[in-house]
Amino acid sequence: MPSPPDATRPGDGCFVHEMPEVRVVFGAGTLDRVAGEAVLLGSSVLLIAGRRQDPSADRVAAALAERCAGRIDGVAEHVPARIADGAVGRVRQTGADAVVSLGGGSAVGRAKAIARETGIPILAVPTTCAGSEMTPIWGRPEAGRKATGRDRRVLPRTVVYDPELTLGLAPGLAAASGMNALAHAIEAAYPPDASPVTRLLSAESVAALTTALPRIVRDPDDLGVRLAVTNLRGADGRCTTALTRIVRDPDDPGVRRRAPYCAWPAGSVLGATTMELHHKLAHILWGTYSLPHAGTHNALLPQTAAFNAPAASGALASVARAVGGPDVGGIGPALFDLARATGAPTSLSQLGLSAAVMVDVVRQVLDAGIIDPRPLEPDAVAESLRDAVDGHRPGDFAGAEPGQW
Ligand code: NAD
Repeated sequence: MPSPPDATRPGDGCFVHEMPEVRVVFGAGTLDRVAGEAVLLGSSVLLIAGRRQDPSADRVAAALAERCAGRIDGVAEHVPARIADGAVGRVRQTGADAVVSLGGGSAVGRAKAIARETGIPILAVPTTCAGSEMTPIWGRPEAGRKATGRDRRVLPRTVVYDPELTLGLAPGLAAASGMNALAHAIEAAYPPDASPVTRLLSAESVAALTTALPRIVRDPDDLGVRLAVTNLRGADGRCTTALTRIVRDPDDPGVRRRAPYCAWPAGSVLGATTMELHHKLAHILWGTYSLPHAGTHNALLPQTAAFNAPAASGALASVARAVGGPDVGGIGPALFDLARATGAPTSLSQLGLSAAVMVDVVRQVLDAGIIDPRPLEPDAVAESLRDAVDGHRPGDFAGAEPGQW
């Protein structure tokens, strides 16, 4: 996507900041507030939820009662045309005037297809860290590619984050989804249309995610509960210890419950800035080669961050601190170690990408006309992509001087 005409470079002192407001309801148990929030947006609500979200969708449908216009459960990554058209047809058939999506980025994507066509408002209830709920970005497959664009109508009006809903994600998928959010936050650090506010949000999100992700990996059962035990004295006078209760620790919500907080600002900055090399590559890999969404980010992010680090050392200094590197030279290796620790594949070949298609991927990314901190020399882009295909740990480079970015 070409850079907007009024964009500036970091350090110019001028910026344009555009971040439309979204009403956010956050907290454990807020699923019970979805119906009440939805009827603020419309009187007849269509509910989109994948089958894994059935129990939650049942509760929302019951609470909506006669205001539930219907339910659809087919969701798929990248919103294939048949999925999008089916959803729009259902809105027309039922006369729904608002839509609730309950699920990951695929469910939000289906709701966005409806909003783009009909203009009806979306309430999103995310269950992954993909971040689509905070962006005005739509996507759809088009002639073997993923076409994307921006349209204010697809930005959800209300987002309900109930951390309890993310607990069903397997730890590996939760961590890879967190890497997806981290990719948004890192790539938002240096685009031409970053503002001081988007940089603050990006730094907050990077810090929160890099703290949370290793804990999700190390202790996936950290749900912020503690076990209450009681000493019992039996009739024989002997003392035994029994587990009597499982209680929520009020001082520690548990890292799994904190994950949605990390994803929220990452989604906001994804929506407010222009994404560059990393997201363009990811779009090509999903759009043309059907690689899975979250896993692609996991394998790609260490390489794209390492690629840009020498050219964006100023903008990435806070990322270096967050990942624990002495300077930006350590970002690539540290992210690779984090990606490896998630247990998700760290090479694109493990996700099914053949080295034979690299020429096409490089050509597509160069043709896209993106503006990246580091000039997109074909050989350098190909080398970075090869490292992602093979899953090489990026090398440290000697501490870079703060650059223009
Ligand atoms: P997803 O929504 O496809 O979910 C991945 C899998 O996890 C699915 O099988 C789903 O059923 C399951 N799942 C989701 N939440 C669960 C939970 N809490 N417990 C158990 N299982 C659960 O994947 P995603 O990574 O969230 O989203 C990917 C899609 O989102 C892609 O199409 C991508 O292009 C899109 N996306 C769009 C934007 C945007 O701004 N437009 C941003 C990010 C992602």
